[in-house]
Amino acid sequence: MNTCTKCIMNDHYPGLSFNEKGECSLCSKYGGFKPIGEEKLLEIFRNATAKKRSEYDALVPLSGGKDSTYILHLAVNVYKLNVLTMTYDNGLFNQIALDNIERALSKIKVKHILRKPDKEVLLKIYRNMLLQSGDICGACDIGTKSNIYKVANDYSVPLILYGTSPLEEDSFIPDSIQDISRFRYILKSSGDLTNKEIEDFLIYPRLNHFKISFYKKTGKFAKEVSPLFYIENPTDKEMGDIIARELDWIEDHSREYSKHFDCIAEPLTNYIRNKIYGYERHLCQYSNMIRRNEISREKAIELYSADNVTTKPDNYQHVLDHLGLTEDDLEKITNIHPLKYEKHISKMNKLFAGLMKIKQRINNR
Ligand SMILES: [Zn+2]
Repeated sequence: MNTCTKCIMNDHYPGLSFNEKGECSLCSKYGGFKPIGEEKLLEIFRNATAKKRSEYDALVPLSGGKDSTYILHLAVNVYKLNVLTMTYDNGLFNQIALDNIERALSKIKVKHILRKPDKEVLLKIYRNMLLQSGDICGACDIGTKSNIYKVANDYSVPLILYGTSPLEEDSFIPDSIQDISRFRYILKSSGDLTNKEIEDFLIYPRLNHFKISFYKKTGKFAKEVSPLFYIENPTDKEMGDIIARELDWIEDHSREYSKHFDCIAEPLTNYIRNKIYGYERHLCQYSNMIRRNEISREKAIELYSADNVTTKPDNYQHVLDHLGLTEDDLEKITNIHPLKYEKHISKMNKLFAGLMKIKQRINNR
């Protein structure tokens, strides 16, 4: 296995190549993080509030994790937006994250909507997605997104503000890309769920990237913005300090690096991803932090070895029990071959991704 001499990425990552100095292509191409610009963000806020048909300027989905709590702080305390918040209960919340949401909401009084899918159906979906494809993050993303669109539509909110951070770039495995067509295929072939259960879970069962883009252009769906791509970001640690001060946010002290600690299944999904793909989220995120000079390579190696992604995480039995899976099931899941359902992804999404690539190439000229 080849490992980059600058970051800690390895050659299991799709499309990665190494130069003569042993640097990976993500490192050699990295030109520093250039924010789109705060003026552009303010313009988006102005446009959205000028056209709004709602008492709210923006919807902030909250998970109790670091990024989404920071976005709530920015939206309310810094940009003075009139915010609606919501949480989609994905059935895998960590108690610390739920407490963080409660503390933040009692500190700034904003309206909060809790969306809870049918628990039985949710667990059936997770169990089957894991057993068939080895991934549940994609299913959780689909459920989360649908519920966010639903709340934004119900309240006619013109903007949705996400906590997606530049630190997470390049950390997604190809199988967890949101694709409703692939999702439906996998669940239908499991035979464990009725059509109605699947459609109810999806809320918008025929959504693809073209439709989303069209709906956003025509104002049927809210505009989606990730503010952290527009402004200079504090480091991961500074971000934690700011929201601790402003919104009584509490860190999960059992782990030094805490992106996505809000989900109890995160360590297990990393273990599974690493088994199937040979890399997982943390490897990518620490590598991003090295490139952004937030941590040294030595520190990244130290954090990464403490994560111990090659062994089953401490809470794995609890998560398996929660999802109704056995040790044998886990063995089967970790032996699923990557991209098993590649040919069942939506043709529209494939076309859309192709067009986006061309657009990006033209923009980079
Ligand atoms: Zn590298």
